[in-house]
Amino acid sequence: MSHIFPRHTKARLPTVARGEGVYLYDQNGKAYLDGSGGAAVSCLGHGDKQVTDAIKAQLDTVAFAHTSFFTSYPAEQLADKLIEHAPEGLDRVYLVSGGSEAMEAALKLARQYFVETDQPQRRHIIARRQSYHGNTLGVLATGGNEWRRAPFAPLLVETSHISPCFEYRGKHPDETRIDYGLRVANELETEIQRLGEDSVIAFVAEPVVGATTGAVPAVEGYFKRIREICDKYGVLLILDEVMCGMGRTGTLFASEQEGISPDIVAIAKGLGAGYQPIGAMLCSAKIYAAIEAGSGFFQHGHTYVGHPTASAAALAVLTKLTDGGLVERCAMMGDKLQNALQQEFGQHANVGDIRGRGLFRALEIVEDRETKAPFAQQRTIHKALKQECFDAGLICYPMGGTVDGQRGDHILLAPPFIIEESHVDEIVGKLKVAIGRVL
Ligand code: PLP
Repeated sequence: MSHIFPRHTKARLPTVARGEGVYLYDQNGKAYLDGSGGAAVSCLGHGDKQVTDAIKAQLDTVAFAHTSFFTSYPAEQLADKLIEHAPEGLDRVYLVSGGSEAMEAALKLARQYFVETDQPQRRHIIARRQSYHGNTLGVLATGGNEWRRAPFAPLLVETSHISPCFEYRGKHPDETRIDYGLRVANELETEIQRLGEDSVIAFVAEPVVGATTGAVPAVEGYFKRIREICDKYGVLLILDEVMCGMGRTGTLFASEQEGISPDIVAIAKGLGAGYQPIGAMLCSAKIYAAIEAGSGFFQHGHTYVGHPTASAAALAVLTKLTDGGLVERCAMMGDKLQNALQQEFGQHANVGDIRGRGLFRALEIVEDRETKAPFAQQRTIHKALKQECFDAGLICYPMGGTVDGQRGDHILLAPPFIIEESHVDEIVGKLKVAIGRVL
């Protein structure tokens, strides 16, 4: 019995022994199709030689140097390549070790920007209900996921949460999609006015919501209106693309599909593709210039900021994504996956919604398709589905319903971009068996 502290102390998990392509293998040699890339991480699949070679080469050169003393070639090249492909206006890259760190850095940079520009009265963050921005205390407060927040509520700084843009659950039958998007976006303006027009630092959102509600893009026009409101009140727009970024939705940055640029964006997961722990925060030239002209020092940092080996891995991943046509492949295979899911489950009595973009897809499971009523939370349908899929050799990422009935159980699919049509068939086939057994 190992002394490891597992995530679920009561679960007896198999030990992963190796990975190859879209499959992971346990200690007994059983194969699992990695249908969710872990948690939307493994965009290249497992055992990619170009990435492992890049890591080995970096280890042979220099594994680590602290950023108080040096920058490094891979970190510099990674930053340049990210900015080359980033939404307009983003100009600088701050490299960290994961998604929560990237989002923490984003919040602190946003606050420091206003301190440096003589607006220290700006102190409020506005985010959305049913969102997740990480597990460290700062960003846990920003997220609106009640289940994750509840045990730590006394430790969380006060944050405003407005409605998410969640068409399946939020749109009234008698309003258009555009009107719905404007209605929920306008909640931001109301909240800014309530808090005080010059007192808000930033609005934070995932362009396509990941773990909380399962691959939910906003309706057309929503983010354009959000951008307008932020500009009107001098509020920074921070986009969390930790899960939906790095090609996952069919474009390198998910926000490209919204036709807007954020002031700050956080990425992680697919950036290292699981080969190394790495995340990044990208910020606009305006923000960087304010720090440069002010204190000249971003009052933040961790030991492993700008880690050379992690950067070398991410540079190899990014090169494959951008120069190897994998983002386009993700869009193409994503359409195939959506069509296959639609064909198999489109009329299923307990599948309320099949949604997402690129290879970032989700099925929402409901008790009643007509009323959209979720299953009772105690039934933990998502856990049963995860287990049935796992037993059948398919990894998918499940999340449960909420107490307020504002969403059902769902299954998130985020397979590697290298999947073939036969893998799409395998995913759908195994899901069909699992759903059949549980429901
Ligand atoms: N933001 C989003 C949207 C996420 O989905 C996650 C993780 O799932 C995070 C932030 C936190 O990232 P990490 O787990 O790498 O700290």
